Amino acid sequence: MIRLVTVDEIDAALVSKVRAALYQAYGLGCEVSAAGLLPRLPAKGAIDARDFLNKAGCAEAIGDDKVLFLTRRPLAPRALPSGEVPTQSLSLLALGRAIVSAHGIDERDSALLTRRLSKLALHEMGRLWGLHHCLDPRCALYPPWSPPFADNGQPQLCVFCREKSEARINLAKS
Ligand SMILES: [Zn+2]
Repeated sequence: MIRLVTVDEIDAALVSKVRAALYQAYGLGCEVSAAGLLPRLPAKGAIDARDFLNKAGCAEAIGDDKVLFLTRRPLAPRALPSGEVPTQSLSLLALGRAIVSAHGIDERDSALLTRRLSKLALHEMGRLWGLHHCLDPRCALYPPWSPPFADNGQPQLCVFCREKSEARINLAKS
């Protein structure tokens, strides 16, 4: 089961579209929980995604539920061996939690916002099932900080990642 938790005010129609995209990609239902166990956030500015995921929770999550937080706040860039990368989303596999930010996506274009947010949600959920980054630029598991991720809009998995995620999900069910 996937738990979707909104960290701040996010349009309900948008949340349900992200939920539909997750269902389409992974064949799993998704419960929306309005209030999580959120850590105290700075009044403004970027959220440290790793720190947030370490502290945040969802009261309704049970067993190995995956929890996906959605926010409009920016996430602070993080350091990788290759340098500092802008961060739009992050998942922590060991905790089964991920966060996705809508910050910086043009909100006036609702189709674009839906596609981008859904694709990031698919990406982080795939990572929570242990999938690695994918080399197919059309796939949601492609590295999200590379330009083709945003350019190739549709939130979808390549055949390889879809089969792999099905296997992981079936394994988790058994
Ligand atoms: Zn793929």
